[in-house]
Amino acid sequence: MTPKKLFQKQMTTPMPKAQETLLEIDLKALKHNFEHLKSKLQQNTKFLAVVKAFAYGSDANNVAHYLQDLNADYFAVAYVNEGIALRKSGITKPILVLHPQAINFKILIKNSLEPSLYNAKILNEFITIASAEKQNNYPIHIKFNTGLNRLGFLENDVDYISSKLRATKAVKVASIFSHLAASEDLNENEFTLNQIASFKSISKNVIKAIDYKPMLHMCNTSGILNYPEAHFDMVRSGIGLYGFGNSEKENKNLKPIATLKTIISQIHTIEKNESVGYNRAFKSNGVLKTATLPVGHADGIGRQYGNGNGFVTIHGKLAPIIGNVCMDMIMVNITNIDCNEGDEVIIFNQTNTAENLAHKANTISYELITAISQRVKRVYKK
Ligand SMILES: *Cc1c(COP(=O)(O)O)cnc(C)c1O
Repeated sequence: MTPKKLFQKQMTTPMPKAQETLLEIDLKALKHNFEHLKSKLQQNTKFLAVVKAFAYGSDANNVAHYLQDLNADYFAVAYVNEGIALRKSGITKPILVLHPQAINFKILIKNSLEPSLYNAKILNEFITIASAEKQNNYPIHIKFNTGLNRLGFLENDVDYISSKLRATKAVKVASIFSHLAASEDLNENEFTLNQIASFKSISKNVIKAIDYKPMLHMCNTSGILNYPEAHFDMVRSGIGLYGFGNSEKENKNLKPIATLKTIISQIHTIEKNESVGYNRAFKSNGVLKTATLPVGHADGIGRQYGNGNGFVTIHGKLAPIIGNVCMDMIMVNITNIDCNEGDEVIIFNQTNTAENLAHKANTISYELITAISQRVKRVYKK
């Protein structure tokens, strides 16, 4: 089967009742989020969909195809192998690779992927390989560090960059970009405004030095929502597409696209002084009922969710995880829930969100959703 046919087949599969652990992807919610975020943009601002890490733990190929059909302008992944997978599945829109390594530059070019270049070493390595591969005006993206201190050239590298660019015909700057450090945190408003001002000044200098105008972009999801003055020519959204806006207010306008569900494999009655799970981490001081579920840390529910921190819902009622999370299983307390072996269990959905669950383990939605491992079967709701 061609990737396109495979995609269509998966898309038309009717929604199964959970009989095993499933990650259900709601494509209508994805469309809603895409359209909501687009509605925040000026008409000519381009939309780059960030589909790194399997589209934040959902499924990069199907999500990217769906967004390509909705006319997303650009895609971004973190690494070259993620971009190759998208090309193999038939994605034809430009793909920015945010953090490529030089060892993969030849294959990056072969797959028409566009590198982010962030320091002298990687810029020179790319120019050398693009020249050796007889490239002409190969699109590259120059990244500037305006305060995140993660990747990027500094403002006083502009002369160096432009001298390198003037000396070659192998590459051409498709965009100049930077990344905000705290776009979701309005207490850091002043810092963010300084990043934006610094990016404006840097891009002005670059444009003057290279004498043409590449695209400019800076905003992630929270930047789109909080800093309309920084949308420039394109915005880059990840988490918003998947349904989280990093604030209660913004979450209301977005819909989580992923539901993680499973079933009850077995119910146990635990007597007083018995223990549950490895290391006897839970000890009972009364009679209780537990359910064992076929999902564990190898599926992405980390050990930090164990011992009463995380919970699932069964027939709408909360069931805390008790004892340690195992590799393939968790045990939950169902003492006050009327339920049977085989019943459906929700780990997160649009009501009991991944963000809520993540907060119980002192982390963020990004970490929980991207952790859902490839072992969990993905199904699509249209
Ligand atoms: C991951 C990433 C994004 C997407 O950020 P969200 O907060 O998920 O919208 C944008 N830009 C860069 C450089 C990134 O690494």
